[in-house]
Amino acid sequence: MTDWQGKNVTVAGLGVSGVPAAKVLHGLGAHVTVVNDGDDARAREQAAELEALGVTVRLGDGETLPEGAELVVTAPGWKPDKPLFTAAHEAGVPVWGDVELAWRLRGPDAAPWLCVTGTNGKTTTTRMLASILQAAGLRTAAVGNIGVSLLDAVAGDEGYDVLAVELSSYQLHWAPSLRAHSAAVLNLAPDHLDWHGSMEAYAKDKGRVYEGNRVACVYNVADKATEDLVREADVEEGCRAVGFTLGAPAPSQLGVVDGILVDRAFVENRQQNAQELAEVADVNPPAPHNIANALAAAALARAFGVPPQAVRDGLRAFTPDAHRISHVADVDGVAFVDDSKATNTHAAQASLAAYESIVWIAGGLAKGATFDELVAESAARLRAVVLIGADRALIREALARHAPEVPVVDLDRTDTGAMLAAVREARRLAVAGDTVLLAPACASMDMFVNYNQRGDAFAQAVRELGA
Ligand code: ADP
Repeated sequence: MTDWQGKNVTVAGLGVSGVPAAKVLHGLGAHVTVVNDGDDARAREQAAELEALGVTVRLGDGETLPEGAELVVTAPGWKPDKPLFTAAHEAGVPVWGDVELAWRLRGPDAAPWLCVTGTNGKTTTTRMLASILQAAGLRTAAVGNIGVSLLDAVAGDEGYDVLAVELSSYQLHWAPSLRAHSAAVLNLAPDHLDWHGSMEAYAKDKGRVYEGNRVACVYNVADKATEDLVREADVEEGCRAVGFTLGAPAPSQLGVVDGILVDRAFVENRQQNAQELAEVADVNPPAPHNIANALAAAALARAFGVPPQAVRDGLRAFTPDAHRISHVADVDGVAFVDDSKATNTHAAQASLAAYESIVWIAGGLAKGATFDELVAESAARLRAVVLIGADRALIREALARHAPEVPVVDLDRTDTGAMLAAVREARRLAVAGDTVLLAPACASMDMFVNYNQRGDAFAQAVRELGA
């Protein structure tokens, strides 16, 4: 669909993707109707802005398909079983997400996409990748689920050479024709299953990122499910499967040898067995899961032809986003670390694995997760646990099953002030040399607006402790 003039397009959902989508489509001459479930103050404000441009907005009803709709462009978070989509399906009307729209709007000379998905580590890896690409002198941006919206990157005339694109499972679900230059699935663990319906459906949506790849499908050697997705994908001829591993790499893999990140997949000189890229110490922070992220970013950059030196320089220049294993302060020899972004058990397991003796602050909204594996894997590292939030009983019960000797303080609170109490308890339980780690393994919305606010509350509480 390249001629938008007069097309009837329904945009499902206002917000970060809907408003720009409506504007861009309206600018291209389409007749745009935005439908939105809510009609709160924010929605009214956004509606007024769009209506002033001539866009039709229907607030308080995101369920019925407007008469004459020829295409639906949905916010990625809208669940596929909504009546709106059933109606579209029955009427033979295609449904695209924001990523699909951006993909279709690309010009003929548009920059290729290097895509990153996975349950955890997407933002970090995408930013590392952008940093490496920049170090190679390429014009690029980290886009998609982070930073600049894809639509802006594609619709604006920035003249990018290549884009580092973070994609969520929701976005991939709604992006059937996306074809990346190369893509990585970092890992696969149960998350958002309430949305996708099953682990199989979730994995299938993640696997879409490999469909039609031209140069490389990057997978995690330690996570067989990611390799399976590569095998199932229909890719362009000549596209290679490239693994990354924290161990010594086999041919066609990137890995670690004696503290050096090495590449055995994209070796320029045939005499050479492996190409050294960077030192483990160049990765910030050098926790195992983050070294894996660095290897995945390096693999994508190397697939794009970036020289080894730029990988090292890009990793050195990279600083992690807030609330991702951020060291807040040391108080009386106890380190306080904010990993509020560990919103699921797989992420929390990675951050717990990075420390030896931990007072763990956990709890929040479990999103249907179970905690047995996490607790069993991490028990030996736990000095004590402080629980907060709505679903803390699930963690408490798992601790009773797998770590009965670890002291647990169940604060039985879900108010925002609970964080200060949790930090105080954690300080009381910790001894010098320990790490107090906020890695909740849960979403934050029972107590906070989002994980940022939860992490800020933790940092503020630590400051009060030190004062
Ligand atoms: P995402 O964008 O996928 O949410 P982030 O890069 O923001 O990922 O990291 C989120 C959290 O996931 C981190 O705070 C850390 O706890 C954990 N994490 C990061 N990378 C990995 C990884 N490769 N494997 C497991 N957990 C990870």
